[in-house]
Amino acid sequence: ACGMELLRDPQYNKGLAFTDKERQNHYLLGLLPPAHLTQDLQVHKVMENIRSYADPLQKYIAIMGLQERNERLFYKVLIDNVEELLPVVYTPTVGEACQKYGAIFQRPHGLYISLKERGKILDCLKNWPEKFVQVIVVTDGERILGLGDLGCQGMGIPVGKLALYTALGGIRASACLPITIDVGTNNETLLNDPFYIGLRQRRATGKEYNDLLHEFMCAVKQAYGEKILIQFEDFANHNAFTLLAKYQKTHLVFNDDIQGTAVVALGGLLAALKVTGGTLADQKFLFLGAGEAGTGIGEMIALEISEQTGIPVEEAREKIWLVDSKGLVVKSRWESLQHFKQNFAHEHEQCKDLLSAVQALKPTILIGTSGQGKTFTKEVIETFTSYNEKPVIFALSNPTSQSECTAEEAYTWSKGQAIFASGSPFDPVTYEGKTFIPGQGNNAYIFPGIGHGVLISGSIRMHNDMLLAAARALAAQVEQEHLHQGLIYPPFKHIRKISANIAVAVAEKAYELGLATKLPKPSNLLKYAESCMYSPNYRNYR
Ligand code: NAP
Ligand code: MN
Repeated sequence: ACGMELLRDPQYNKGLAFTDKERQNHYLLGLLPPAHLTQDLQVHKVMENIRSYADPLQKYIAIMGLQERNERLFYKVLIDNVEELLPVVYTPTVGEACQKYGAIFQRPHGLYISLKERGKILDCLKNWPEKFVQVIVVTDGERILGLGDLGCQGMGIPVGKLALYTALGGIRASACLPITIDVGTNNETLLNDPFYIGLRQRRATGKEYNDLLHEFMCAVKQAYGEKILIQFEDFANHNAFTLLAKYQKTHLVFNDDIQGTAVVALGGLLAALKVTGGTLADQKFLFLGAGEAGTGIGEMIALEISEQTGIPVEEAREKIWLVDSKGLVVKSRWESLQHFKQNFAHEHEQCKDLLSAVQALKPTILIGTSGQGKTFTKEVIETFTSYNEKPVIFALSNPTSQSECTAEEAYTWSKGQAIFASGSPFDPVTYEGKTFIPGQGNNAYIFPGIGHGVLISGSIRMHNDMLLAAARALAAQVEQEHLHQGLIYPPFKHIRKISANIAVAVAEKAYELGLATKLPKPSNLLKYAESCMYSPNYRNYR
């Protein structure tokens, strides 16, 4: 490319960073004002610009616009300011962006595959300009964050997730493909919105839905081969478990809502045990919320206990108890339980609510995945604390308003004893002179590193043992000084290093299991993982 074409191509554009020589050689003379700005100075300028907006949505529009104009600058800005920009590019701002996607939509990003493309999905994939795609994040928009059905406007989620794959995990930007599958929406507001960008019909279900997804899964493998990583994102739980179970046998698939959440939570629990003492198998777990997150975490815990002790996973599951909207999940409810809860339905009398379940079961670990705020009440936490010296409390529901309790409530009601982590960020809390830093169990700790590990080893399937390895690698990076502050996750500012270490653990396991195809195995996996990470620095053009 040269001349105006070069400036308009986001993969090559460097704006005022083009040198005189490059301007001379590539027909840019006169197309740019005379000044030169280094990439660092450009980053500075972009950040000043973003900070000048009070409205988070304006910040989102500004930074996503940059992705369309100058990709390397976008990633450099994101990597250098990851803690500040994560809430803009991802939750919570991306949620608002999805809600208003129709109104802020300027040009498409990613692939839109709707029922209209039935029978032609492979053609859609062929229209995508990049041929060496390695990671797809796909949504059907039915359960976007905690916001419900946003139909086709869920596209903001795959776009944001993949930006994090690149910024945090070092996957090449051109290897990432965001996809939205549009089977309609049941969201009346959107159906009546003149700016809605999706199919104006109610959701297809049953055979029609399954057939479209199956065509999609087959077409993806046909277009990109066996090693394409497909991440399912924000599907409703009535499809999510089934899709994962169906396609993990034939494809390299990962569901972040089920598995990513589970790995990040297990990592936090393993770190918390360094403070409480005891093993995972010594614990009794009680969950409020028995959906994708709750049962996903429960299963991952059971697998790890089984690994550590050698007891069968069925027996390990007996340490895990769930409360859903109808009360404690018990054997007598079996007939009416959704299949993903049945593994955790144990013999016990009914408990109508969380408090009575805590009183009856005396768990040692309490995890909130209900999407319902204020449900870890003072009474619940005081009861839980009364028999636990170091009560472990995870309030994972997002956004902040839905958190089962706040950090301050957890520390205050437990009289400074709680080991606390949350899904949404909370500020540090000072209780009786001691300052606690609440850990954020953000999936962004996990999926970029897992993805990178899978790609560098050329793994063809995702095995549960690879996920367990990722959780242990995360926990291993929590240092004593962090634990002293109450922090059970490593500081996020080191995320590229954290991701590299997770990638190594995942790749190592893939080789061990015989799932890796990148042979021979690199002698120093960490060096290799780091050397493969995408750098957003500008290149020089001859
Ligand atoms: P989901 O599949 O819809 O599951 C929600 C569960 O909560 C269901 O089992 C539901 O019960 C139960 N529930 C709803 N209201 C309740 C109440 N008042 N009392 C007890 N249980 C109640 O949703 P999900 O994907 O698991 O997500 C749940 C929450 O976790 C969301 O807020 C999400 O933001 C959060 N999350 C956090 C992270 C993270 O921190 N890293 C990751 C993923 C998800 P029924 O089954 O009876 O309807
Ligand atoms: Mn999600």
